Amino acid sequence: MEFDYLIVGAGLAGATAAHELSRAGKRCLVIDKRPHIAGNVFTQLIDGINVHKYGAHIFHTSDRRIWDYVNSFVEFNRYTNSPVAVAPDGRLYNLPFNMNTFYQMWGVKTPAEAQQKIDEQRREAVERMRAEGISEPRNLEEQALTLIGRDIYEKLIKHYTEKQWGRKCTDLPAFIIRRLPVRLTFDNNYFNDSYQGIPIGGYTRLIERMLEGIEVRLNTDYFDDKDAFDAMAEKVIYTGEIDRFYDYCYGHLQYRTVSFETESLDEANYQGNAVVNYTDSSTPFTRIIEHKHFECFGNDVYANPRTIISREYSKEWNPGDEPYYPVNDERNSAIYEKYKALAEGDEKVIFCGRLAEYRYYDMHQVISATLDKISRII
Ligand code: FAD
Ligand code: UDP
Repeated sequence: MEFDYLIVGAGLAGATAAHELSRAGKRCLVIDKRPHIAGNVFTQLIDGINVHKYGAHIFHTSDRRIWDYVNSFVEFNRYTNSPVAVAPDGRLYNLPFNMNTFYQMWGVKTPAEAQQKIDEQRREAVERMRAEGISEPRNLEEQALTLIGRDIYEKLIKHYTEKQWGRKCTDLPAFIIRRLPVRLTFDNNYFNDSYQGIPIGGYTRLIERMLEGIEVRLNTDYFDDKDAFDAMAEKVIYTGEIDRFYDYCYGHLQYRTVSFETESLDEANYQGNAVVNYTDSSTPFTRIIEHKHFECFGNDVYANPRTIISREYSKEWNPGDEPYYPVNDERNSAIYEKYKALAEGDEKVIFCGRLAEYRYYDMHQVISATLDKISRII
C-alpha cells in the first residue's frame, strides 16, 4: 500500500496524529474536505489581522507537556482572556466574577464586604433548596443562584445562557456554569490555567508547522470514495463526525452551531477588548469579537487603521449545518455509546478529536487525547 496511515481531517487532532506518526517513520496522507487546513482553529490574514474564522480560540492549559508541545512549533503571545459584559442595565462589568465585578455591581471594596454581599444574595436560594430537601442544584438556574445570587444571575448569566443554548436555564444542566471562576481578588483572567496565549502568526501557522513535510490533499471528502481511500493505507485516523462514518445507522447526533457576521471597519479600535459579551435578552447576538486584540496589545492596536469584528449568533443545529458544540445530554450520549461500541470493534480505524469522540474538548485536550492514542500504536 502507498501509505501506512490515511488521516481524515487536517484540524488539530489530524495534525497531531499526522505529526507524531510521520515522526515515527510512518508514511502519512492527510485529506480534508474543506479548502484549507486547521479545521475549526483556522485563522485567515485579512487587512493584516489574523481572523479566527470559526470563532475565537484561546489556548489555555495547566499541562506543561502540552504547553511545551505547541510552543515547539510556534511561539505564543501573552494574550490573557478578560471579557467584558454589556448587561441589561447598559453598564459594563468585568468577567469572570471577581472583585472588579462585585465593585461594579454593588460598590463593595474589600473581599469581606463582597463575601457578605454574596452570602446575602445566595441566602434566598440556599434556604429554598434546604426547605425543599434538595442537596444538589438540579439545573443551571439553581446552580447560579446558590453560587453567586440573584443580581449576577439576572444581569450576567440568565439571558446570555438562554441565548447561547436556546433553552431555559431551568432546563440546562448545572455543570455548564461551574467552569466559570468566582474570585475574591481583582483578577479578570477568564481562566485558572497556568499557561495561556495565542500562536504568533495565527493558528493556521501552528498547523502548517505540524504538517510540514506531510502530504495534504484539500477539497477531498473521504466519503466521496471511501473504498478507494481505505485501499490506499493500512490504517485510518478519522477525525470527522462519528455518526456520519456509520451512515447514521443509530440516528443523528445533535450539535449547537454558531453563525458569524464578520465586518471590516474603517476604524482602529472598535471596542477596546477582544471579547465583549452581551448579557441582555434584546441583543440577538451573544458576543462581539474584535480579532486584532488577540495579537496586539496596548496602543499597538493603532498601528493598523482598520479592525475586524465578528458578531456571534448561537443557533440550533440542523443536519447539514457546521457541527460545533456536541450536546452531551442523555439522549445524545446514549446514541454516541452505540457508535462508540462499533468504533471499538474496528481494527482499521482509530477515532480521534471533537467530532469523532463526540466530546466537548478544548484544544489542549484534543492534543493530549490524540497524543495518548497515537502513543499506543507506535
Ligand atoms: P475539527 O477542527 O473540527 O477538525 C476536523 C476536520 O475534519 C475538519 O477540518 C473537517 O473539515 C474534516 N473532516 C470532517 N469530515 C471529513 C470528511 N468526510 N472528509 C475529509 N475531511 C473531513 N478550544 C479552546 O481550547 N479554546 C477556545 O477558546 C475554544 N473556542 C472555541 C470556539 C468555538 C466556536 C468552537 C466551535 C470551538 C472552540 N474550541 C476552543 C474547541 C476547538 O475548536 C476544538 O477543540 C478543536 O478545534 C478540535 O479539533 P478537531 O481536529 O478535533 O476538530
Ligand atoms: N456564561 C454566562 N455569561 C457570560 C459568559 C458565560 O452566563 O457572560 C455562562 C454560559 O452559560 C456559558 C457558560 O457560562 O455556557 C460557560 O462559559 P464559557 O465562556 O466557558 O462558554 P463556551 O462558549 O466556552 O462554551
